[in-house]
Amino acid sequence: MNIDILLGKTVEHLIEIEGTKTLVHKQMFSDFLRLQRDAAQEGLDLQIASAFRDYNRQLGIWNAKSRGERVLLDKNEKPLEFSTLSSDEIIFSILRWSALPGSSRHHWGTDVDIYDGKTQRREDVKLMTSECIDGGPAARLHQWLDDRMNMNEAYGFFRPYKTERDGIAPEQWHISYLPIARRMADNFTFIVFKKNIELSDMNLKNEVLNHAEEIYRRFVMNFDLP
Ligand SMILES: [Zn+2]
Repeated sequence: MNIDILLGKTVEHLIEIEGTKTLVHKQMFSDFLRLQRDAAQEGLDLQIASAFRDYNRQLGIWNAKSRGERVLLDKNEKPLEFSTLSSDEIIFSILRWSALPGSSRHHWGTDVDIYDGKTQRREDVKLMTSECIDGGPAARLHQWLDDRMNMNEAYGFFRPYKTERDGIAPEQWHISYLPIARRMADNFTFIVFKKNIELSDMNLKNEVLNHAEEIYRRFVMNFDLP
């Protein structure tokens, strides 16, 4: 496998969904359309808020957050006071909500953040748990999806961030295409992970390298399976 595919440094594995600027993996595209069509029959408009994200975009997010240029949130989604945080606290606060550049499942094109276009406009979607449960605008979509997943009728889509997992916040809106994502995860070894950090321009790089093993274990290889 081309390592650049794992790291978000190429778009060769992707296809653009017509009429949008959204890129997804070529081999998940037809199953995604099937899922979307099934949803439409239930009066749901399964849409993508965010799909492929490239390395440089993730690097920009990381560097802005690690310099205090973008707000950091605690586990209850409350803003943290940046000036009081140590480097290690900054790193682990970012990792709760954002991946290291090169380590996001959004690089793979197999993972998408979804919403219900019947009840929300894309620009209004915040990607918060409250939207997905208890009568939130995407609650019916997610209930339907859960039912499909439970019946094994979601064409291989599953929720990698369903539960709180040792530091990563649950992301109900994030779904992943197992047939391809499994291959990506298998190829994303610790050696690939560490080498990418060493070669990167990420802020707090040495501090990240000091915790490389812990970060790989808790924030990269730590996800729910179907
Ligand atoms: Zn996501």
